[in-house]
Amino acid sequence: MSPNMVRSVCPYDCPDTCGLLVEVEEGRAVSVSGDPAHPVTRGLLCPKMNHYERTVHSPRRLKIPLLRTGPKGEGRFEPLSWDEAIERIASRWKGLIVRFGGECVLPYSFAGTMGLVQRNSGHPFFHKLGASRLERTICSPAKEAGWRAVMGDTAAMDPAEIEQSDLAILWGINAASTSIHVMRDALTARRRGARLWAIDTYRTPTCEAADEAFIVRPGGDGALALGMMHVMVREGLTEQAFIRDNVLGFEAFAEKVLSDCTPEWMSPVCGLPAAIIERMAREFAAAKAPFIRLGCGLTRYGNGAMTVRTIACLPALSGAWQRPGGGLFTGTSTGDAFPLQRVTREDFMERPTRLVSMNQLGAALSELGDPPIMSLYVYHSNPAAVTPDQNAVIKGLERNDLFTVVHERFLTDTARYADIVLPAASSLEQPDLYRCYGGYQSQRCAAAIPPVGEAKSNWEVFSLLAGGMGWDEPFFKQSADDLVEQLLDFETPWRDAGMTRSLREGEPVLLTPPSKSKCDWKTPSGRIEILSDREPEPLPRLLATHAAGDGFPLRLQPATTPYALNSSFYEQDGLREKQECMALMMHPQDAAARGLTDGRRVIAYNDLGEVVFVLKATERVPAGTVVTEGVWWREFIPGRRGVNALTSQRLTDSGRGSTLYDAAVEVRGK
Ligand code: SF4
Repeated sequence: MSPNMVRSVCPYDCPDTCGLLVEVEEGRAVSVSGDPAHPVTRGLLCPKMNHYERTVHSPRRLKIPLLRTGPKGEGRFEPLSWDEAIERIASRWKGLIVRFGGECVLPYSFAGTMGLVQRNSGHPFFHKLGASRLERTICSPAKEAGWRAVMGDTAAMDPAEIEQSDLAILWGINAASTSIHVMRDALTARRRGARLWAIDTYRTPTCEAADEAFIVRPGGDGALALGMMHVMVREGLTEQAFIRDNVLGFEAFAEKVLSDCTPEWMSPVCGLPAAIIERMAREFAAAKAPFIRLGCGLTRYGNGAMTVRTIACLPALSGAWQRPGGGLFTGTSTGDAFPLQRVTREDFMERPTRLVSMNQLGAALSELGDPPIMSLYVYHSNPAAVTPDQNAVIKGLERNDLFTVVHERFLTDTARYADIVLPAASSLEQPDLYRCYGGYQSQRCAAAIPPVGEAKSNWEVFSLLAGGMGWDEPFFKQSADDLVEQLLDFETPWRDAGMTRSLREGEPVLLTPPSKSKCDWKTPSGRIEILSDREPEPLPRLLATHAAGDGFPLRLQPATTPYALNSSFYEQDGLREKQECMALMMHPQDAAARGLTDGRRVIAYNDLGEVVFVLKATERVPAGTVVTEGVWWREFIPGRRGVNALTSQRLTDSGRGSTLYDAAVEVRGK
């Protein structure tokens, strides 16, 4: 490696955690490429990160602290020194806490950076402050709940096994856009003779790359799985020896799917003809080692956890688990590899404080609780754009008595409502330690370049704020590297001394799960639990989505794009221009029925709000579904609201997750 090349890690909320090589000249990152020595990502980066230097050195970067001078939302600010900013924040919080108590302060953050230290460095500060706690459940807690209902604490299988499968199924995951290494491995399986299926709600690029794509109605995935299992049971296509030794509750479940889940009954719910469900069931059962890779989108419905629980029964019935390449992958959990509690410091809380769902921020800010939320501190998150029920969130952010601080790299939609904006460091300007939720890779990295302008990392700001609050705790006087070291200085079966040494040296490492067999079922019964007495519902069953009862005719899918990640990357003009505009894809038949033509402005609406889109009439989406990709910043869209003005604060059936995909709308011309 040449001396001006520095190893780093992609910090974004993506399952791949790619290894990066950063070329540095005179303190600037001049190019970013994939690290060919990385054992999993092997030098392949997605289009978003190929020019990460354009994000890091974007002319839009915030470089100094700012103080609001105009009305909230307008985006008018004047410069402020760091000392003054910290002093203003601390003294405002001290006053509010005397009046209302610590719980009147609410932190808001999620996964803007995935590094273990920087992502979690607000926790100890807010625990000590006595602030309300944020229930961080916007992503996929329903997926975890559904998996846990059937599989308990069973460790995830090795995702690379997909290469040994003879039927690779990408279910609810647009891997070509969001998990490029999964796509690479699935295509390797295909080259070796496997068939590749994609199951999704519209024709994504992943569907185009598959042998066959099955387009389901939004939220109908569980119905598809139930219909398939009806056929497998009815036709004796289940693997009885595996079931006898490994599965709990098959008989009760078989009786239920036989009586309640015929393909004819499941067909209108999942949107696939009964004959297709039958064929899928037979081909799935006939495959030696079918591998299901589940995405997150299908879990963001009112029935999300039940959907995952139901799909998790498929490999149990076919016995796929017992063969290399067969099984189901929902994500890795490497929580025991690093003692995260040394960063999060729950012990700093005097008592457990109030939990506020991040999916219900609008309600939390508007429905004044006891105490009311009087201050919001947002870091590496953009709730004004990404949080459900955007109108409710913005109404809350507009409150003049709400003291809002936003620590960000760019003047996001949320930052425009801040009283004080603090400039945030990018991942190249701060040290951290990363682990992965789509595999087992882990890597430490040092800062590759000095801070841009006066930007500071999360950890640095919380250290300063601790000083501003007058706390003398030595904990807050450590450096981020000290905390990384505390995470590494810990004995665990997940890594031996050699691996820890490699991590200290900044090399990518593959953690080793303690469980050596994927058939080591970690459930109370020691079996795969189709029947569970831990769940309110003992057996998986058909469950309706929320939007099914909303009374609007079109199901809305807020989908992914290869050129953005939620609301990140809109600062890069080249990436944004590739998306062209905030479009609403609609089947030509639905467009014609409403007198709408391709390219015109339309308004999608429901009981929560109205959003202006540009119509794209396309057969990529089925009739009855409309799709929009990306979460656009307000400055780049035709109206004043983005897609989340149409999504609701309702939660999933289990896990209290977001139901961002569970929305229905009508569309009219503008
Ligand atoms: S966003 Fe994902 S695929 Fe793209 S570089 Fe980062 S980790 Fe890799």
